[in-house]
This record gives sequence, C-alpha cells and structure tokens, in this order.
Amino acid sequence: MLDDINGSIDWQGLDAAHHLHPFTDHKSLHEGKVRVITDAEGVYLHDAEGNKILDGMAGLWCVAAGYSRPELVQAATRQMQKLPYYNTFFKTTTPPVVALAQRLAQITPAGLNHAFFACSGSEAVDTALRMARVYWQTLGKPSKKIIIGREYGYHGSTTLGASAGGMVDMHRQGGDMPNFVQVMPPYWYGYGGQMSPAEFGIYAARQVEDKIRELGADHVAAFIGEPLQGAGGVIIPPETYWPEINRICQENNILLIADEVICGFGRTGQMFGSDYFGIKPDMMTMAKAITSGYLPLSAVMLHDRVADVLINETGEFYHGFTYSGHPVACAVALANLDIIQNEGLVQRADAMGVILREKLHAALDHHPMVGEIRGVGLIGAIELTADKRTRKFFEKRGRVGMICRDYCVANGLVMRAVRDSMVYSPPLTITEAELDVLVARAAQSIEQTYAQVKNEVAL
Ligand SMILES: *Cc1c(COP(=O)(O)O)cnc(C)c1O
Repeated sequence: MLDDINGSIDWQGLDAAHHLHPFTDHKSLHEGKVRVITDAEGVYLHDAEGNKILDGMAGLWCVAAGYSRPELVQAATRQMQKLPYYNTFFKTTTPPVVALAQRLAQITPAGLNHAFFACSGSEAVDTALRMARVYWQTLGKPSKKIIIGREYGYHGSTTLGASAGGMVDMHRQGGDMPNFVQVMPPYWYGYGGQMSPAEFGIYAARQVEDKIRELGADHVAAFIGEPLQGAGGVIIPPETYWPEINRICQENNILLIADEVICGFGRTGQMFGSDYFGIKPDMMTMAKAITSGYLPLSAVMLHDRVADVLINETGEFYHGFTYSGHPVACAVALANLDIIQNEGLVQRADAMGVILREKLHAALDHHPMVGEIRGVGLIGAIELTADKRTRKFFEKRGRVGMICRDYCVANGLVMRAVRDSMVYSPPLTITEAELDVLVARAAQSIEQTYAQVKNEVAL
C-alpha cells in the first residue's frame, strides 16, 4: 500500500475516516483537506500534489541534520540487523545505549554525567519531575513537591508535562495536576512595558523568587524552564534572566530543570541552550534534535549532585519504559551527533542565524505590522503587531498569525504561527541561498496578510 504505485490511494479521505491528529480541531480540519507529505530532501518537503515546500520549522523543531541523510538510514539499518531491540531492565544493557550515555556526558555542561532514556520529550519531562520529587523524598524532605513553571511554557503533552507547562487550554483539558504553579515568562515584548530588556529580565526572574516565598521553599521541589520558550512563541529571555534564576534556585535550595528539548544540539548556536544562556541546571531534558527526529528518543541528563542521591540512597526508582534506551534510536542518535559535530552544525547555526536576521531586518524592518524580529542561532520569531510604537497586540490574538501562516503555506514555506508571532526554526544545514527563499516567501506572506488586515494596523 505504501508504494502507491498508481497514485490512486485516497490518503486524505482515509485520514479523515480513521486518523485523529495531535492538537487538532477535527471538524475544521475536515472542512478542508489534510496535506499529505510524501517525501523530503534537505530542507524541502514534497506533498502529494507535487508542491515543494521549504520547511522553515525543521518538522517540529527537530530535523537538525536535514531530511534524507543516508548516514542515519545506514546507522538504523545496521543496528536493526544486528540487534533490533533489547531492553535495559533487569541488569542488561546494549552497546548503543552505553555509547550514547557516554557521548551525552561529554557534550553536556560539566557535572551532567548520567543519562536516563525515554522516547519523547514529554516522557523525559515526566521522568525529571518524578526524579525531582524522589530526590527530595530521599533527603527526608517529602513536602518539597511543587514544580514552578512559566506561562506559555511548553513541557509536553502528558498529564505532568501539560501541568508543568503554561498553556491554559491544556490545563483546562485535564492537564492540571496539583502542585504545579506558573509565573510570568521573560517575554519583554509582551510584558516589559517601559522597562529595558535588562531590567525586565531581573524583574521576571524575581517573580520566581516571590513565588517561592509565597509557597515556602520547603514546599517547592524544582523550577522548570526552557532556555528559550519555543512553542510559546520563541520567547527569548534578556541576558540578565538566567543568571538571576541560577542564584534564586541555589539560594532557596530548589532544583533547576532546563528543558532543552528544542534548544539542545545546536539550535541556539551553542550545543545547548544552557551553554548559550549560562544556565546551571541540575537536570536537563532533551529529545527532538537528538536523532534529528528520524526516530523517537529522549533523555534526562542528571548532574552528579542529583545522580549521587538517586544512585546511592534512593534504592529502586520505580520508573522506566519498554523502549528506554532503544538500541536503534540510540545508534541513530550517535550517527546524528557525528553529523552535527563533523559538519560543524552548531557553529553553522550561529553564523547562519546572524545572516538570516540581517536578511529579515533588511526585508521587514520598515513594515508597519512587524513589531520585532528576534532570534538566537537558527530559532526565532517575527512578532506581528497592531502598533509597532506601543507594541500593541492585535485585538483577537492569533487570528492575524493564522492568516499569515496560511499565506506562507500557499507560498511554499512552513512557518508556524504562535498567537501573532511567526516562528522559524529551519534545519541547521540550511544554505544561504535557501535562507533567501525563506525570507522572500515570509516577506511576501506578511505583505499579503497586511493587505488583508491593514485597517487594524496603526501607521
Ligand atoms: C516538544 C517539546 C516537549 C515534548 O516533546 P514530545 O516529544 O512532543 O513529547 C517538551 N518540552 C519542550 C521544550 C518541547 O519543545
């Protein structure tokens, strides 16, 4: 069936009949037609209608090495032939999982030397949150249970991940476990008012300290945050923010969990977002680009100070997955890290990000609807605004972004809209010529959107 030799299979009809999609309003999906992606190469996707679309999102922020990499296919094939599966329960291990754990210890910041594997970012987050609570239980402080996260934070879609994140729609639909709270995100454009970004960074960090005071440090287990908030609209904290968070967590004896699921493996122009922002995490969660999305895999990296307690004092930690440390996924991750390191993709993300932002500024700075162009490395956002002088949001948040997103797709570019921010996160392999295509299509889409909503924009 998958060969579909005559192109005669009605994938769209069958999808509508049998498939439930993630984060989708199915009624409105079924009013139109689902897009069928059939293959991909480099930074381009191909759909069943013959369109070639530049993937400005690297899938879901994950395809760092680009599509169609034979090295990753070969790594998977070889491991499939040798040992397609074995588990890591019951005193066993496999070479790919050991090699990957060691490799991650080498490339993560000093002190993070122990890896626990799972299959998705959400599972890594769940694991880290349970570990944080078990850590405090083990140290005789079972009352330290509360997890502090941030509004617009995204930590996955399991019940704990949704509760830790700051997406109110997810909280409303069963993602609101007890002992989770959120504070203001370091979103200068939205909340900074008259403060400078540097002042606002301190101000936003102090919200965490105030919350700890209010709850009592004896009740707080951990603070969890993405180095920069991806799914929340690529919210990039001012450089004053994370050093202050480090201080607050240390002084109050709160574990610091850096959710590196998007930032990890070069996205920011450093290997990890923690390297970029100077974060001192006790635990790091990672997934997505760890395999460039070719297979599902995630990990929690633990600092020695946490691992020592869990290893030497906790006894058994009653947690793990059938596919924890899946050998094929680990083999692909190793080959993917080879690509990232051999091709200098981390440095490349830094250099290409600078070039991309120069091009975006040149094309869009003058535009009355473009309030801010932000980014680090190869991740960022174009904030569409109703009034660029006062940084005013559009009346109904998200409608203009959605219009723009649809123009982007029609123009052969995948860019996601988060509220009215157009976000980008292309493969780290993108070339300068491809960046020109991305910028031209984005600018054209913004122009078409503007033509449609002009009367809502202050001049
Ligand atoms: C995507 C994401 C997750 C969840 O990962 P899944 O693999 O979708 O479960 C968690 N945290 C962050 C920061 C993410 O971007």
